[in-house]
Amino acid sequence: MIENIYEKALGGELISSAEFFELIDGDLAVVTDYAQKLRDGFTGRTVKTCSIINARSGLCSEDCVFCAQSAHYGTKAPVFPFIDLAKIKEAAIRTKELGVERFSIVSSGLGPDDEEFRKIKAAVELVKSIGLQTDISVGCLTYEQLIELKEAGLDSYHHNLETSESFFPNICTTHEYADDVNAVKEALRAGIDVCCGGIFGIGEKWEHRYELAVLLRELGVQSVPINFLNPVTGTPKEGTDILTEEEAMRIIAVYRFVLPDRILRVCGGRNAVFKSGGAEKVFSAGASGMMVGDYLTVKGPDLEEDMEFINRQHS
Ligand code: SF4
Repeated sequence: MIENIYEKALGGELISSAEFFELIDGDLAVVTDYAQKLRDGFTGRTVKTCSIINARSGLCSEDCVFCAQSAHYGTKAPVFPFIDLAKIKEAAIRTKELGVERFSIVSSGLGPDDEEFRKIKAAVELVKSIGLQTDISVGCLTYEQLIELKEAGLDSYHHNLETSESFFPNICTTHEYADDVNAVKEALRAGIDVCCGGIFGIGEKWEHRYELAVLLRELGVQSVPINFLNPVTGTPKEGTDILTEEEAMRIIAVYRFVLPDRILRVCGGRNAVFKSGGAEKVFSAGASGMMVGDYLTVKGPDLEEDMEFINRQHS
């Protein structure tokens, strides 16, 4: 039966909700084997890498229940305004030296004011000049701002939908799901690649996961970050159980069936779920990329271990 679902995905057809649930009930080793075959056929076996810099941290007006940077919660996350270009340059050069392909400038909040937009544009020009694929995650932007950044060298716009529309009211009440969908559509309309995914383990059910995957497919985003909750003290998700390795691997595998030709990047929470060998395990579940280095407000997986695995894959 899984073979039939695989053939359907391989042929470019959207698998149904019933088929998605068959994969959830199926033997994990079999499901991940087929997910790997889909990944190998569509995006190959090279591991796409990216790294981020936290360019402005904390004091976000939004109340996303999993986020250390929301001003609504008393977390110990760092708070600072947009950092100097010199720090961005230093981090970008280090990223380039490591052989990581993409570098993203990330700032908290719903979107930048005019002054911060100018700084973001200067940062995009700088990172591009260092020879890295240049990405941003800076909240919602207007079409005109997106075009300006594209002309400055922007390669990809990152904006997560976080979860499905039907589950979204459980995780954020300060803006509408449609605002995020619209931000993604505007970037695609501007001709910029979009990296857009979600966070898992926040209380959503498998039906919400299917709903999000189908929307991402329909939107036509090129890259899909998969984040796992690493519960932060002070947020409403404090004390939540972390996903098991098996569930995290199954999420990656079934997303490969719905989004066979997209870059599935495992990002935040990888080292919370996988205590060791995380890079290898997410790759064996059908992922095609991963974030390396530190996350926004917490330490990331061991960089040397990650790069060793990635270089081995590429040799
Ligand atoms: S996820 Fe983004 S929008 Fe939501 S609270 Fe965190 S920084 Fe703000």
